[in-house]
Amino acid sequence: MKITLLTGKTFDISEAFDFDIKIVQSSVSRKLTLRIDAKEHIPVLSIPKYCSQKRAVAFVNENMDWIVNSLGRLPQIKQFADGDSFLLFGQKVTIRHNADARRGVWLEDNILNVSGNQEFLHRRVRDYIKKRAADEFYKISADYAKRLGQKLSGVSIKDTKSRWGSCSVLHHINYSWRIALAPDYVIDYLMAHEVSHLKHPDHSPRFWACVADLYPDWKQGHDWLKKHGKSLYSYA
Ligand SMILES: [Zn+2]
Repeated sequence: MKITLLTGKTFDISEAFDFDIKIVQSSVSRKLTLRIDAKEHIPVLSIPKYCSQKRAVAFVNENMDWIVNSLGRLPQIKQFADGDSFLLFGQKVTIRHNADARRGVWLEDNILNVSGNQEFLHRRVRDYIKKRAADEFYKISADYAKRLGQKLSGVSIKDTKSRWGSCSVLHHINYSWRIALAPDYVIDYLMAHEVSHLKHPDHSPRFWACVADLYPDWKQGHDWLKKHGKSLYSYA
């Protein structure tokens, strides 16, 4: 986010990060401090009266592990709600609750319309994402498998918290539905990773060469997942 400082200047570090961060300015403290707003599920950066954006970005980067770990430890309290905006299969969408419609959940341009009772909205959105993930992830994985000359027997969507994907000896791949909320290059990387395991059941140099062959931009997705993966758990 950006704020207008006491000095009248605008302060914006949102460009530097892939996640939301709230900034507040302290008129008394001379130090930069970070805390977690558990309710909003976002880090809050408090900056002193005089602070450059460069210094703030560096400070957040230095504390990235702490931020990711702290967010990961929070109970998953956040539910999908009317007005929420988030990435879905690489597209920024906004939820619109449309109580009287009788169409379930449907996407129109960037609006994710959800009908029915408010209390069921979260589950409806989650079920919609899981269902679409089964199709989208199968398509991407099947395409990669074909390029490798490997058989893919199927794709399942899971709610696992310990891993983003896994691959069985029977050539069946499981994905966490939450990966649908990651940037598209992360999705492409993860699928290339799991499909490469059909050929190489290890993390050998040959395995990584295979990943790079399927998806040359793999490093960006790999690093994002390592750095921000836990942020995908903000939704219950
Ligand atoms: Zn692996």
